Amino acid sequence: MSGAIVVGGASGIGLASAKVLAAEGFTVSVADVNADAARAAAASIGGTAITMDVTDEDSVADGFGKLDDLRVVVSCAGLSLPGAIAELGLEQWQTTIDVCLTGSFLVLKHAAQHIVDGGSVVVISSLNARQPGAGMAGYCAAKAGVTTLVEVAALEFAPRGIRVNAIAPGFIDTPLTAGVALVPGLLGEYIENTPLGRGGRPEEIADMVAFLASDKAAWITGAAFDVNGGAHLRRYPDVLGKVRAMMAPSG
Ligand code: NAP
Repeated sequence: MSGAIVVGGASGIGLASAKVLAAEGFTVSVADVNADAARAAAASIGGTAITMDVTDEDSVADGFGKLDDLRVVVSCAGLSLPGAIAELGLEQWQTTIDVCLTGSFLVLKHAAQHIVDGGSVVVISSLNARQPGAGMAGYCAAKAGVTTLVEVAALEFAPRGIRVNAIAPGFIDTPLTAGVALVPGLLGEYIENTPLGRGGRPEEIADMVAFLASDKAAWITGAAFDVNGGAHLRRYPDVLGKVRAMMAPSG
């Protein structure tokens, strides 16, 4: 059985991807900064847990060093620390860039050193790579960077037959987006701006991961796929405006 690693695989889209890849017969390693959650996720799919912090190169190198016959790498770790640019702390900006952009770079770097020729790398980007959201500067900038990073990696890895692609999900119900439901009207604005009229499920991204990992995608590299119910055709919700309205003193 060939090996797959899902980085950020203990939760949400990563966990769904790990499940689909395990069901397709891969030996799956679940890597995550949250060691307990990684262990639980790995146990649920008969895989192996790796504690990995994508912002720490030694940790990423150690994790990839444990893998044999690595054919598929999924880079899923992410977070968003929102705030208006005028008030955003440098630390918040830096953390978002470190996890979402530098973390993707480190995963690609160590994937290149361990993946077999002909393998496939899938990086989870975001609708925010192309659609700006007020209050989401670090996240939008990081995800836009991820799109170009994936294109560069696709060029560099192609001589070994290794494909590198990005998936740009729209709103997906995961722990990352749990706060959306707490802001009055915000979830409704996401849905209004999604032509297919609903948010997505982690499994709907995982199915695209499995396709890109498979030989059915043998001639696809350097691409970014919108999986978002058509949300890229409308506008991003006014997250900052809705949060400010919620915080404003009433009366
Ligand atoms: P999630 O459920 O929070 O999963 C993200 C996982 O990454 C968590 O297990 C998290 O651990 C882990 N992680 C965070 N920092 C890490 C680090 N430094 N090193 C290793 N792992 C780390 O979120 P999700 O919604 O599935 O998001 C997965 C990816 O999809 C992210 O890249 C996100 O930006 C992207 N995405 C999500 C949506 C959406 O609507 N949900 C839309 C577009 C793109 P902790 O829980 O311990 O932090």
